[in-house]
Amino acid sequence: MPTVRLPLHIGVDALWRAAWASALLLPGAVLVATSVHLDAAHQARIVLGVIGAVALCIGIALIVYAWSARASDAVFGADGMGIEGGRHGGTTLRWEEIAAARIHADAAGFGHQLKLTTRTGQTLVLADAVDATEIASLESLGQTLKARLGEEPEPLPRRADLACCARCGAPLPPTDQQSISCIACGAPNPVDPRIRERVTMQMAADRTQQATALRIERLLRQPGANMASVTLALAALVSALVWAAVAAAFWIVGSDALDAFAIGVGFFNGWVFTFAMFSFARIALARRRALLLLSTTFGARPPVKPGDAPGCRQCGAPLPVGGSVLVGCIYCGTQSVLGINVRPLLRRVQQHGHSIEKLLGEQAAERSSWIKLGLIGVLATGIGALVLMAQIVVAQEFAEERASCERGVVKACADVGLSYYVGSSVREDKAAAFRYRKRACDGDHAEACRDIAFQLELGIGVPKDREQAKAHYEKACRLGFAKACDERKELDE
Ligand SMILES: [Zn+2]
Ligand SMILES: [Zn+2]
Repeated sequence: MPTVRLPLHIGVDALWRAAWASALLLPGAVLVATSVHLDAAHQARIVLGVIGAVALCIGIALIVYAWSARASDAVFGADGMGIEGGRHGGTTLRWEEIAAARIHADAAGFGHQLKLTTRTGQTLVLADAVDATEIASLESLGQTLKARLGEEPEPLPRRADLACCARCGAPLPPTDQQSISCIACGAPNPVDPRIRERVTMQMAADRTQQATALRIERLLRQPGANMASVTLALAALVSALVWAAVAAAFWIVGSDALDAFAIGVGFFNGWVFTFAMFSFARIALARRRALLLLSTTFGARPPVKPGDAPGCRQCGAPLPVGGSVLVGCIYCGTQSVLGINVRPLLRRVQQHGHSIEKLLGEQAAERSSWIKLGLIGVLATGIGALVLMAQIVVAQEFAEERASCERGVVKACADVGLSYYVGSSVREDKAAAFRYRKRACDGDHAEACRDIAFQLELGIGVPKDREQAKAHYEKACRLGFAKACDERKELDE
């Protein structure tokens, strides 16, 4: 019996834990870094720091939890089974060492466990599952394992219409040849022309399914458990890069202009992108699940003796020996997959339906829905990134304007004052508005003089001062700002 690889942990549990960890750990780090970077006066500083620290802790716990449920494969061989990947990676057990396999809800009632008991009385929790997909796959693997450990199953009742050896009565594999020698006794047997015709028709029908056969071969050849874990790690890494970009954007916008909107957009970007990356990673897991269902449900019955033809998974009749991985039974028409050799449990075959096309269709639909979700996420991140870039541009323009004010450009000081006053491009700060407008007014900017007169009159960002207000309305009036002349008069009334 060649080795057969079956997913033990598909990796769905690990994927969602890693996704949550990425969605908490990285923004947590960004929050903590932001709160350290913010000046002490910023009111949100402590709140951001505390939320960040809590997110960091939960994220680390989730990483540990994801690591414990990382993808693993059970490799079935002739003598026993080995585990590749996961926390039992490298473990090998001979079939005769294993006493029993069972699946049950874990003590906390949180998920399901697959437990092996050895002949020496040791218990090994091979895998535990929380996600419904993961539980279903654990069950089908557990059933396969039980079947492997159990007695040889009762042979299926032989079909009445089965072609058999004339001398010894052993079933003859169907062929399109004129005659075939019996595998059991070697006697040559002529092949019934009706059987030959059915074989020819079935082979022609099988050939029309080349595309399906190719897809099955691809599923069977897919990389193992460690590759699934690498895919998850890659998704987490790419997410981390985007969070680093978000942190950089916060840095550039600067603590003066970093408001709830900018933080919201940044976090939206990070989260949506993280979700998109893990959606793409989920595609690899859809293939692992399909492999498990394919192997445990659609495999041909392994030959009873070496040299025998493999049997139809449905009726047990010998299958024609063809080149394809997908072979139809000439007696009942059911298609079986060759080369898997894990004895399918006949009673469970009914539950999964009969159609390989349906299974492949489900896998394709699963794949395309995760691709769509991933693409929507990438698109949304792109839009969010544009918004964030617009914020960066605004913040940089403001920083340039403030720099030109420092260089003595009066108009720039007036504009910076206005920005501080209304809170556009920068956090609203009436006192700073007054300071910049004062510099503009000192440089004989009429409108700035009128504006500080107004702030002085009403005590906005500066103590009320009627005399100073009057003086500045007068200066604005003198500099030619007509409205200020009227306001000066109104102040006396
Ligand atoms: Zn014979
Ligand atoms: Zn059949």
